Amino acid sequence: VQGAPLLDVRDLHAHYGESHILHGMEFNVRQGEVVTLLGRNGAGKTTTLKSIIGLVGKRTGTVTFEGENIIDRAPHTIARRGIAFCPEERAIFAALSVEENLMLPPVVKPGGMSVEEIYTMFPNLKERRRSQGTKLSGGEQQMLAIGRILRTGANLLMLDEPTEGLAPVIIDRIGETIREIKARGFTVLLVEQNFRFASTVADRHYVVENGRVVDAIAADELEAKTEDLKRYLGV
Ligand code: ATP
Repeated sequence: VQGAPLLDVRDLHAHYGESHILHGMEFNVRQGEVVTLLGRNGAGKTTTLKSIIGLVGKRTGTVTFEGENIIDRAPHTIARRGIAFCPEERAIFAALSVEENLMLPPVVKPGGMSVEEIYTMFPNLKERRRSQGTKLSGGEQQMLAIGRILRTGANLLMLDEPTEGLAPVIIDRIGETIREIKARGFTVLLVEQNFRFASTVADRHYVVENGRVVDAIAADELEAKTEDLKRYLGV
């Protein structure tokens, strides 16, 4: 029997000023799963992640994390509960070295990875430990951004389009990383437009359109639903 999901989102609405962006998002993520939100540009995927972490001012509904509704909590409180967000623009400190970037994140829970463990996972970051953030390639910046959230010990890692703008060989590397993160017991909520990539890492997918979930697809159903997905994603 499955227990309660780690994250359970119900009837989530979000607004930017007068714009009503999310119209009752519903999905859940169980402990140890990799789940994706798939959808076109502007579908509301990023807004969903930002609403969960508390960065969208006006939001309603319930976001239950580890049994507690966090919809009204402030971002720092939510982060301390064990949810980490890696934005599309890869929040790293450009002026600081790789190592400084890895030293800074606050540890919110036991189980955060040490800098040495991060270097084992990403040997090229170790080679570049003294390099400034600005000197890194896009792939290295993404690995560093993921490394930073792995330091915190957060149990739920939310990654916003980690493959955006990266070369195929680097995308494969990010896929390996996500599988390794899952093997270590972390839970991942991934936003993607690249469903081929998503299919290599995720247990389940939700399709988002106009601020709603319009389809839920298990990993083994993806092949049969390829044509539907292409239509949803406009590819
Ligand atoms: P993308 O891949 O482009 O990030 P997305 O599915 O993540 O797509 P969102 O970024 O969540 O989509 O955007 C959903 C809608 O909200 C879009 O219409 C966008 O223009 C709008 N939007 C996003 N951020 C803001 C903001 N800060 N202020 C006003 N509108 C916004």
